[in-house]
Amino acid sequence: SQSATEQLVQTTCPYCGVGCGVDVLQTGSMKGRLSDLKGSPEHPANFGRLCIKGTHLLETLDPAKRLTTPVVFGQPASWESATDIVAARLSSIIEQHGPDAIGLYGSGQLLTEDYYVANKLMKGFIGTANIDTNSRLCMSSAVVAHKRAFGEDIVPCDYEDLEHTDLLILVGSNAAWTHPVLYQRIERAKLRNPAMKVVVIDPRHTDSSTIADLHIALRAGSDSALYCGLLHYLAVNNGLDNAFIEASTEGFDRALDAAKDWTLATVAEACDVPEKQLRTLYSWFAQLPRVISFFSMGINQSTTGVDKGNAIINCHLASGKIGREGCGPFSITGQPNAMGGREVGGLSNMLAAHMDIDNPQHRETVSAFWQAPNLASQPGLKAVEMFQAAADGKLKCLWIMATNPVASMPNRALIEKALSNCELVIVSETAATNDTLKFADIVLPATGWSEKNGTVTNSERRISRQRGLLDPHGMARHDWQIISMVACAMGFEKAFAYQHPQQIFSEHCALTAADNNGSRALDLGALAGLSLTQYDNLRPQQWPLAEAHRSGSERLFADGRFYTPNGKARFIAITPRAPEQQTSSQYPFVLNTGRLRDQWHTMTRTGNAPRLLKHTDRPWLSIHPRDAQRLGITDGALVTLKAACSDNIDVILPARPDSKQRCGELFAPFHWSATWGSHCKVGALLNGANDALSGQPELKHGAVSAEVF
Ligand code: SF4
Repeated sequence: SQSATEQLVQTTCPYCGVGCGVDVLQTGSMKGRLSDLKGSPEHPANFGRLCIKGTHLLETLDPAKRLTTPVVFGQPASWESATDIVAARLSSIIEQHGPDAIGLYGSGQLLTEDYYVANKLMKGFIGTANIDTNSRLCMSSAVVAHKRAFGEDIVPCDYEDLEHTDLLILVGSNAAWTHPVLYQRIERAKLRNPAMKVVVIDPRHTDSSTIADLHIALRAGSDSALYCGLLHYLAVNNGLDNAFIEASTEGFDRALDAAKDWTLATVAEACDVPEKQLRTLYSWFAQLPRVISFFSMGINQSTTGVDKGNAIINCHLASGKIGREGCGPFSITGQPNAMGGREVGGLSNMLAAHMDIDNPQHRETVSAFWQAPNLASQPGLKAVEMFQAAADGKLKCLWIMATNPVASMPNRALIEKALSNCELVIVSETAATNDTLKFADIVLPATGWSEKNGTVTNSERRISRQRGLLDPHGMARHDWQIISMVACAMGFEKAFAYQHPQQIFSEHCALTAADNNGSRALDLGALAGLSLTQYDNLRPQQWPLAEAHRSGSERLFADGRFYTPNGKARFIAITPRAPEQQTSSQYPFVLNTGRLRDQWHTMTRTGNAPRLLKHTDRPWLSIHPRDAQRLGITDGALVTLKAACSDNIDVILPARPDSKQRCGELFAPFHWSATWGSHCKVGALLNGANDALSGQPELKHGAVSAEVF
């Protein structure tokens, strides 16, 4: 039993987009001790389960590895002095070069309240939309696909749907490693209902394909062709829901016409898979009543990621497999709050509350609500563009918040040049060492998980509280506080006089309801005005909040109405295109990068936990045994990788010959960076090519050479 000084606090895991609830026993006060971390039995995302990363969260809290003090041009500083200097330097750059000379690059690790305040300062008060985040690398292609098809960035499925489907297609996802708690839910669903089919579409045979009834190891990057073939198949095999197409959609004929040449034979050739496998998948999709396409980074991180997303959505619209239990296209985000960031406009081409920056009416609504004098009037630079502009000398200042772009962005040479060329680099960060900090002129110590207090939204649109368990370490402050202090020092005291994240959350919820009248699904007006106690006790809430939804229905699109001006979903005509980075005789291998089961991003936290290094304690290169044999590469031998974009950088990794890899394709985890060894910077081999519509970089299809070191 708990003593008087012990209390069980419910918070959320800070890693992936599943958004698991976590219970932690807090002994003593906020300065006290944390123990007994467990999954929250009542949290609807995980019902008590955690994966290994979540289970070992407490081991990652190492005070010795934290920033403690603001540092300004190499000297420790007080917060007052640091914020005054940041404000003065920002004001001076704006005066000399205009607001678009400033850029803020944030993270899906920020809480919704942090994101909201950063967005408000940049877009509303500084007057530039140059605020983008590492969510651009995660799911921005899905956002554009949703907006094109549904009129709003809406993920129509819930986790519970995974238990009520007849066919689950995992496409571009190794959920067993990247979203383990959801994957376990799928495993249990299949155990309970052996008739449920699972199909995995992935060039590699991964842990996720072990439960698959069918694994389609397609050629990397050929997903659009596979889904265009499915649309064509549905049309010629009685798989269309004509009544739904007629009543609730537009653009079907054009989309079908674009897919007309994608017969089984042409798809089989384009994807380099047997026709028989395609026929099996297509017939299951056509015949089984409930189908989910569960998609993630393998779809999004592509120069054609938006089209891939729409190719998937087209098939669900054509068959009417959407807006019903166990049905729909289900985009799963990588980060814990990628969705919350989207809700407050945390990308450079969005406004807050799912409003559009290029819509004058929406700009007027936000400007009036914020009483913002300088609301940005056009989209800003997306992540890669922002660093390119800094490298070209057009962007003079970058403020980097809760992310490590030198290690995580593609084209490391460009990122280093960008940061070297800036007049001012500000880094708000928790970790005392990472690859980006060495470029910082001003370092601001921020709070991390266990100290932060606010909300996050997971992949099924569920808002949960992340609660503060400990006092901030050293002089660290919350990101929303740091941004507000700078805003106040710039003269915007009235709009940034926040004392508590509850005030920010309440304001955000009120903005979602402003001039809404059912025109946008994101309407959190019912949560505006929560008291401090109500905010503290807020239980997980999924939107749409039924009473705020215009149809009164809890299931999105159940009424066949979408959020386009005429209420109809849009088919998009897709012409499959090859990835931009193509192999050649000099660079003959396709390079795919991704996550491991037990690590997170650039390992500044998970790298602290010895038990998380047991699964894999070093980077490696997966290569098909036939390729390895041809090149004389043996198990464990060091292999040098080169790419056209990395003239001066060789990446050297130990080889793991693995027949689960396709011939001609390689895989390497991206977690290790220069902090861990100078020759494992895998992102340096990717050239930063990105989707023209979403700006999301290609991280799954580089072109490299490989030879024995
Ligand atoms: Fe955390 Fe994701 Fe694991 Fe859940 S599945 S414990 S959110 S890393």
